[in-house]
Amino acid sequence: MAQVNFIDVKDNDAIFEGNGYDAVLVVTSDIDALGIDEIRLLANHGKNIDARIGRSPTLLFAPGLAGGRLIVSPVNDTDNDCQDVRLYGDAARQALQVALDAGAKRPLLIVNQHQSDKYRQALSVSALACGQQLWQALERREALGDEAAFEAIGLLATSANAAVLNAMEAGRILARDLCGTEPERMSATAFAQYCVEAYQDSCLKVSVVEDRDVLERDYPLLSAVGRSSFGVPRHQPRVVKVEYCAEGEISHSYFFAGKGVVYDTGGADIKIAGGMAGMSRDKGGAAAVAGLMKTLSMLKPKGVRVVAELGLVRNSIGSEAFVTDEIITSHAGVRVRIGNTDAEGRLVLADLLSHLRIKAEKAVSPQLFSVATLTGHVVRCYGSYTAVVENSVARENQVGLRLQTIGDEWGEPIEVSRLRRDDYSKIVDPSGAADILSSNNAPSSVTARGHQYPAAFLLKASGLEAHGLTAATPMAYTHVDIAGSATEGDPLYGKPTAAPLVGLFAHITA
Ligand SMILES: [Zn+2]
Repeated sequence: MAQVNFIDVKDNDAIFEGNGYDAVLVVTSDIDALGIDEIRLLANHGKNIDARIGRSPTLLFAPGLAGGRLIVSPVNDTDNDCQDVRLYGDAARQALQVALDAGAKRPLLIVNQHQSDKYRQALSVSALACGQQLWQALERREALGDEAAFEAIGLLATSANAAVLNAMEAGRILARDLCGTEPERMSATAFAQYCVEAYQDSCLKVSVVEDRDVLERDYPLLSAVGRSSFGVPRHQPRVVKVEYCAEGEISHSYFFAGKGVVYDTGGADIKIAGGMAGMSRDKGGAAAVAGLMKTLSMLKPKGVRVVAELGLVRNSIGSEAFVTDEIITSHAGVRVRIGNTDAEGRLVLADLLSHLRIKAEKAVSPQLFSVATLTGHVVRCYGSYTAVVENSVARENQVGLRLQTIGDEWGEPIEVSRLRRDDYSKIVDPSGAADILSSNNAPSSVTARGHQYPAAFLLKASGLEAHGLTAATPMAYTHVDIAGSATEGDPLYGKPTAAPLVGLFAHITA
């Protein structure tokens, strides 16, 4: 997609006609607090004839200002303790839509700096919200053309950094494209190809595992999920490996497993009664991680190494399909009984995590993550919020807490769930024939602890369980369930959000 082009603007004169912009967008909780007299006078004067000014987004005729347009989008309710920085994002999206509808091509965005710390990233959050508002579906762009809505968006401030925001948005565009696109255009093979093209000429190391024998040997659980897809060449599974390594000394290493189930029929435990619609979005975890790597490749942060494995597979159904009751040995050598073929995401992740575990053994200060649209339970539990479930090492290092704090600042809020001993009792194979059971045979949304206990499965099936607090090589592992946060609006076909890309990037570079 045509890149959204943010520009840092340091000179207040940019608000005037003839200085490169054609609309002034003001996002503020208090017009008087802006400190720009021309805008304050115009807005207060406008209030005399239009009581909406300061209450809802309004366009004012503003001779002398850029494009003669002043759009004021108020941020109300900032003193409410329950509110967060997303208030600014919402107001910015409304202002941007007014500018778009009014025919502006180069808007200048001004966001007031609120005194409360929780709004510290208000300008960056507002800018990213504009990116979210502007994104259009890949299928639509490919059919109807891909012209940028705006030539550029100026950011009048000192607190933001356009280069960082442009890189974040480039990653988010890639993530949304990968997550949101229909299952034939973005099959596993096409997803892998889309990544390879997006990373061309970057500093990233990229490889794609395509060979069936290699997939079945190295990713046995993932290959079981894809077993009935091998017969259709364009539906065959892929594993994409991507690595970013900063020049110079490395002080922290990060490892990401991304769930990329490009279509989830449920497999032999097929989704019924309309439950399959929207299941092309079951690749949001791999998509967000892919986007994160793009952002990293553009900003090249120092001191970090980031390794990602994306498991791309179609959970198809057919005579070759894997079925419930089968016992399959994971890459880590753990014999897994399949409890339900619709709990396929954890199978994909377990093999990816096992490979990352081996790489992490020799890495400096490693942190591992799995990112996935994993469960209906997390949606039932937390609505549209991301949930993280940590192992003991991550909890000791306050990884979840840090992610939560960063998420609050950047408008990507996160809930921290605690892994409990009960979660391990849910993955016992009652027959004793297998080492563990992948899941119960009911939808997670009606299962108690339905989004927490998969983390227990992931720890065991990937071999990460052997890297707890008392182990010789402890490894911090955090499972991130984005089933509720990967898209916004319509539950089936809403816009992908690219969450938790911004929070993970901020965590890595903090
Ligand atoms: Zn499923």
